[in-house]
Amino acid sequence: MRRAAIYCRISQDRAGAGLGVARQEADCRALVERRGWQVADVYPDNDVSAYSGSPRPAWQRLLSDIEAGTVDAIVCWHVDRLTRSPRELEDVIDLADRRGIELATVTGEIDLGTPTGRLIARMLGAAARHEAEHKAERQKRQRRQSAEAGNVSGGGMRPYGYADDRITIIGEEAEVIREAARRVLAGESLTSVCRDFEKRDIRTPAGRHWLPTTLRRLLASARISGRREHTPRSSFQTTRPLLGEIVADAVWPAIITPVDSDRLRALLNDPARDYRRQAATGRTYLLSGILRCGKCGHRMNGRPRSGVPRYVCPNVPGSGSCGGVATNAHHTNIHIRDMLLTALDSPALAQRIRHDSGDDDNLAELVRADEELLEELAEAWAAREITRKEWMAARAPIDLRLNNNRAALASLSRTSPLITFIGTMQQMLTRWDAMNTSQQRAIVAATVHRITVAPAKPRWDPDRFTIDWIA
Ligand SMILES: [Zn+2]
Repeated sequence: MRRAAIYCRISQDRAGAGLGVARQEADCRALVERRGWQVADVYPDNDVSAYSGSPRPAWQRLLSDIEAGTVDAIVCWHVDRLTRSPRELEDVIDLADRRGIELATVTGEIDLGTPTGRLIARMLGAAARHEAEHKAERQKRQRRQSAEAGNVSGGGMRPYGYADDRITIIGEEAEVIREAARRVLAGESLTSVCRDFEKRDIRTPAGRHWLPTTLRRLLASARISGRREHTPRSSFQTTRPLLGEIVADAVWPAIITPVDSDRLRALLNDPARDYRRQAATGRTYLLSGILRCGKCGHRMNGRPRSGVPRYVCPNVPGSGSCGGVATNAHHTNIHIRDMLLTALDSPALAQRIRHDSGDDDNLAELVRADEELLEELAEAWAAREITRKEWMAARAPIDLRLNNNRAALASLSRTSPLITFIGTMQQMLTRWDAMNTSQQRAIVAATVHRITVAPAKPRWDPDRFTIDWIA
């Protein structure tokens, strides 16, 4: 009996056969059964950027299983799910020749053993590639055109200051925006404005308290000055940049003047200001919050004295902190780095980290597959293919599994920054120096629970530091 590998791929090119991975798998399983084969394994890849060349772990696993001889056939939904480029298709054809692999697709029979079958596969692959490229180009153009027309855009939460139609101004909120703009332009910090808003119980559209980051985005958005901003998708990966390009006057009215908006945008996007802001809140301090006061146990924060960066037990009335311990930040950072790298240099710890993180990829795949499944269910409900009751019933077990897997993934992800970090002492030192503070913090957080700092002695004393390692 032929052992069939089911290969599924989620991608953004939802044209035509853009199906969720669950649907692809179900259809493929049915095909395997019709053929009288047996399922060897399912290989799901999440590949949101169809032709970007991002890695496909399941695909790599499939190729190595074929080489190892544990798979005799590949089943997929359509040829365009299987390969992303003509070169990859040639790899498959080559494998079919050498290993006698059969290929079956839900959308039609393709015999890679014959010249005609190969021609068809190549044509289908080329057509899919053309369509995806064409579609990406079209979408980019549409977003740009819509932005230039000053149209209302976006789903989700309404923007602060405007009603759900995204056009009508909410007077009370508009006043808050004008006040915040005035205060920040006058030199007040975002943190200070947010603190005041919290006291007055002024909240975001989502009902949360204002954070400096959310207030910064609000004040820097061209929207509140009645202008339309466009940020090309290609210009960012995960975090949307603060400023886009202002492309048009919008259809909605302004709350602040374009002049004030331009000043705010320049001010809030100034990297020097950013640095000062972070320094003030201790974010540039590698170990703030990780160090604990040896007298009272309170978290220590970064705070300079006479321009010298230090970690201190904060003396905040009512917080239970004693204010009695401080240490030089620079020396402490170097000392802790050395302790950390020495510990990570031990083969036993490195071994444990590799072992712990082994299931990372697999879990991430499961989570993504379930998210896709939920999305499909929602789509099915929206298209009235299922009732609301059926939708809810189907969701429950997926939600449960998803939550469990997410929790497991979160606990594994804690050690994952270490995977690419550990190496020889010299390698780790080089990597460490190339990292920014937040990346270094991730390494520290993956390695230690906390570091207790004993009260000061007259000289620099490394024995003041007691490290509580993550087992
Ligand atoms: Zn203390």
